Amino acid sequence: MEGFSLFISDLHLATERPGIVEQFFGFLAGPARGAEGLYVLGDLFEYWAGDDDFDDPLNHSVAQAFAGLVREGTQVFFMHGNRDLLVGQAFAQRASAKLLEDPTRLDLHGTRTLLMHGDTLCTDDVKYQEFRAYARHPQNQARFLAQPIAARHAEIEGLRTRNTREKLGKTAEIMDVNAQAVEQVLREHGYPRLIHGHTHRPARHVHVVDRHEATRWVLGDWYESGSYLRCDEKGCASIALQEP
Ligand code: MN
Repeated sequence: MEGFSLFISDLHLATERPGIVEQFFGFLAGPARGAEGLYVLGDLFEYWAGDDDFDDPLNHSVAQAFAGLVREGTQVFFMHGNRDLLVGQAFAQRASAKLLEDPTRLDLHGTRTLLMHGDTLCTDDVKYQEFRAYARHPQNQARFLAQPIAARHAEIEGLRTRNTREKLGKTAEIMDVNAQAVEQVLREHGYPRLIHGHTHRPARHVHVVDRHEATRWVLGDWYESGSYLRCDEKGCASIALQEP
């Protein structure tokens, strides 16, 4: 059998959503087995308070399940999203996963492919980009992680409430990718394929930049039900999981 790789993002796994959590474990035990690589392109978790939050049974069992998949011969790669940007080496080690930079370039079964979470493409959302810069600053991360775990959970809870409220005031266009930002990335890297998530608008877009054609795959979220992108040497296809 030819090799294949799978891509997922925006699962937003949380204890409050047991159906999706179960579907995710079913995915790892089913479709993911036999893949050369499983690429998680951000927002696997609804939030991540720090790698020392391992009393949480969900965090623990996700790491265990990834490590089990790796033992079966599938490499697991993890790129940060905006929700789980604090996932660090300790989690990666427990999960036997490799952390990926955003963006990452790779040769995917013979096609040069660019991987991103996708939030850096949403340049119209100025407020979000300001928050992103703040949250990615090492000093701010150190200050956050220095707090006791309960205080971190409380701060995240406040952020989530504020986010939900602010999203109501934003138009759909503002929260989608900016066309120029996409073109700029495709021009800069010159790759014929881009895979990203974050916008929760699963689609296959074709862009022509400087007369070069590039396919942009947008991964779907796992709010109602899960889905993944499967790529091999012939190409990629989006596959929906059966509803949980
Ligand atoms: Mn995101």
